[in-house]
Amino acid sequence: MELPSAYAGKILSVDLSSGKIDTIETSRYAEKFIGGRGTATALYWDLVPAKAGAMDPENKLIVSVGPLAGMPGGLGGSRWGIYSKSPFPRGRFGRDHFCYGNMGGTFGSELRFAGYDGLVVSGKADRPVSIDIRDGDVSINSAEDLAGRTTVETIDFIKNKSGPRTRVMCIGPAGENMVPIATVFADGDASCSGGMGAVMGSKNLKAVSAAGTNRRLSPGDPEEMKRIEQQVRSADRGNVKVWGMDFMDHSPKSRKYPCFGCMAKCLRVKYTADNGKSGKFMCQSRFFYLNHAMSYYGGDNDMSFLANRLCDEYGIDTWELQTIIEWLLACHDAGIVSEKESGDLPQPRIRRTPLRRGPLRVKKIRREGRSALYQDRPLRSALLHREHAPVSL
Ligand code: SF4
Repeated sequence: MELPSAYAGKILSVDLSSGKIDTIETSRYAEKFIGGRGTATALYWDLVPAKAGAMDPENKLIVSVGPLAGMPGGLGGSRWGIYSKSPFPRGRFGRDHFCYGNMGGTFGSELRFAGYDGLVVSGKADRPVSIDIRDGDVSINSAEDLAGRTTVETIDFIKNKSGPRTRVMCIGPAGENMVPIATVFADGDASCSGGMGAVMGSKNLKAVSAAGTNRRLSPGDPEEMKRIEQQVRSADRGNVKVWGMDFMDHSPKSRKYPCFGCMAKCLRVKYTADNGKSGKFMCQSRFFYLNHAMSYYGGDNDMSFLANRLCDEYGIDTWELQTIIEWLLACHDAGIVSEKESGDLPQPRIRRTPLRRGPLRVKKIRREGRSALYQDRPLRSALLHREHAPVSL
């Protein structure tokens, strides 16, 4: 089957153990499986051995975009995903299993502009490396000067070196340390759950950058595309409310922050705090620290954004951190977890403690405290106290 013209036609394959760079024909998968998710799942089925662990070199980190990636006109041409065998949440099943993270921003479309419909990373580098994709040309480079840097610092560093049009996906210190709740963070402040940051860290892969000049993708049927776009626009989706709660920040410090090529009638905003830090602030990450900040400060302020941003910088999943915080509070209240067991975390002060002294301490994220709660899978840890765990397991 001849693929529609919007496809680049090939998926990049990089083996970090051998340094071998190859390609896979997209048509092998795209003609049988729907979109980027179908292609990535089929690739996973073909390429990941059933017995491989999430952190084994035999596992693959699969990046995939759908046919709309990079397409202009507001039909969500920005979405992309990362697929792999995940280390999290292993506690529920007792084994690593397939998982994926769904992302927006600008990296997915740039990957297609750079000449690929996806990327399969296998093996493990013997030192920190990055992959650079530039108009079809691919190189594996040392990333030793990026090691230990936060996600935001890593993206800035690569852009300063390679130019502002370069788009980057990377991990922070959490991913480098293979913390199971580590995220992958990418240009446009996209981030994904599912332990994908830990898998990327297990391969010693700090970052992937992409830049392409082939930016004018044409749909197979432009008229039909236009008709669908008008239909979607006329639906006037507006803002998202769930359970009557508005998940968008409407303060004067926020402005719309759409992903590439999206008509942006969603809650995605960029927030700028008084200290100049800015970044995406929406949905669950807007709320996960809000009640702790409000109970300490007596009202809403920049702190819930800064907590969210700190997680983005270190590459930590706020969904999971929220569970850990709530679980710690419940365990402390029930007299189950002592300060020692929680890695010297000052339990009585969690609710009233400012961010830098609270549960988001960098020391904990870097595991220097040897805390079982952060070293091991958090839900598995909760299982040890199953009858008291505040989450449904
Ligand atoms: S701007 Fe909003 S609706 Fe559009 S792709 Fe991004 S998250 Fe989705």
